[in-house]
Amino acid sequence: MSYKITFIPGDGIGPEVSEAARLCVDATGVKIDWQEAIAGENAIKKFGEPLPDETVASVRKNKIAIKGPIVTPIAGGFRSVNVQLRQALDLYACLRPAKSYEGTKSLFKDLDLVIVRENTEDLYAGIEFEDKKPETKELIKKIELLSKREIREDSAISIKPISAFGSERIVRFAFEYAKRNNRKKVTAIHKANIMKFSDGLFLKTAREVAKKYSDIQFEEAIVDNMAMQLVQKPKNFDVLVLPNLYGDIISDLCAGLVGGLGIAPGANIGDEIALFEAVHGSAPKYTGQNKVNPTAMILSAVLMLRHLKETKAADRLENAVKEVLKEGKFVTYDLKQDRNDPTAVGTRQMAEAICRKLR
Ligand code: NAD
Repeated sequence: MSYKITFIPGDGIGPEVSEAARLCVDATGVKIDWQEAIAGENAIKKFGEPLPDETVASVRKNKIAIKGPIVTPIAGGFRSVNVQLRQALDLYACLRPAKSYEGTKSLFKDLDLVIVRENTEDLYAGIEFEDKKPETKELIKKIELLSKREIREDSAISIKPISAFGSERIVRFAFEYAKRNNRKKVTAIHKANIMKFSDGLFLKTAREVAKKYSDIQFEEAIVDNMAMQLVQKPKNFDVLVLPNLYGDIISDLCAGLVGGLGIAPGANIGDEIALFEAVHGSAPKYTGQNKVNPTAMILSAVLMLRHLKETKAADRLENAVKEVLKEGKFVTYDLKQDRNDPTAVGTRQMAEAICRKLR
């Protein structure tokens, strides 16, 4: 049987790392009919928009996609294609494992955390009002009236919606993941001491969901305290579940604990559709240099194989990655002790070394 999978190369370093992942998946022998679709800067050049309808339609049809990173202009320009895709396809759960592998610059040995980030709500909902615009002034007046609090008139406003529906399904996802993967504990992370209603609702809902999973330990932690605890004693944790923004920040922190963005994989999962991508961005300064680390994308492909229930192929590919990292010979510059080590290999060559280790 051959799987139809949408392949979105992305921009910046995206095409190089996604090609490396495709090479490794093909080398496992799992038959895939890769259907290429574009998004980001290349899509603007061809279609005049960063996320063409046909790209979204391809993912909807195939239900599985793998995507290289895509540039998001800061403060202005087009809205994040990544966020748009997650919202358009209702990929509400972002799964980001943070696992230490021998041979990397992991700060801890044998760390194996899983971050489950809500993907559709919170300050990422994209509901924003620009400073000095008439609608912003109107909104400020309305809020002042309703809340009896003053807001400076030259403020910009971002809205943070958190629903019981969104909180319930993400916390349930975290517990279901824990159950399927023999995990012992789920920690819900929040700032409900300050945001009593939005984060408060997330926390209240998490407590309710937790009651249905008596075999799995549940605990709660305030996000700032969690940031410190993760740096000092990350092994106290197992599965973390967070609203969107905290999930974004804490998953990068966890990527840092296990050796950096070059090895941090991710998946965006909905009830029917799943899209796999590295945590890192498009690192534009390295574009086209065949230099960056393909591991994060290849491990994202491992998550994809697990999602397809191609467990043997997933294990073989993950083991091949482990061996190459442990040997430390055919690895990119960022994995060498000295980043200027002339024996570092390129993106493609590291992927080829991983293919050679497949057993
Ligand atoms: P980035 O992750 O692209 O790069 C930050 C730094 O991390 C790089 O300069 C590089 O030193 C290192 N790095 C990243 N990936 C690496 C790899 N594979 N191998 C070795 N080193 C690697 O973050 P940024 O510079 O903040 O963002 C660049 C662009 O990417 C922005 O437009 C941002 O919005 C976008 N972005 C996209 C996604 C996505 O597509 N899912 C995710 C994050 C950021």
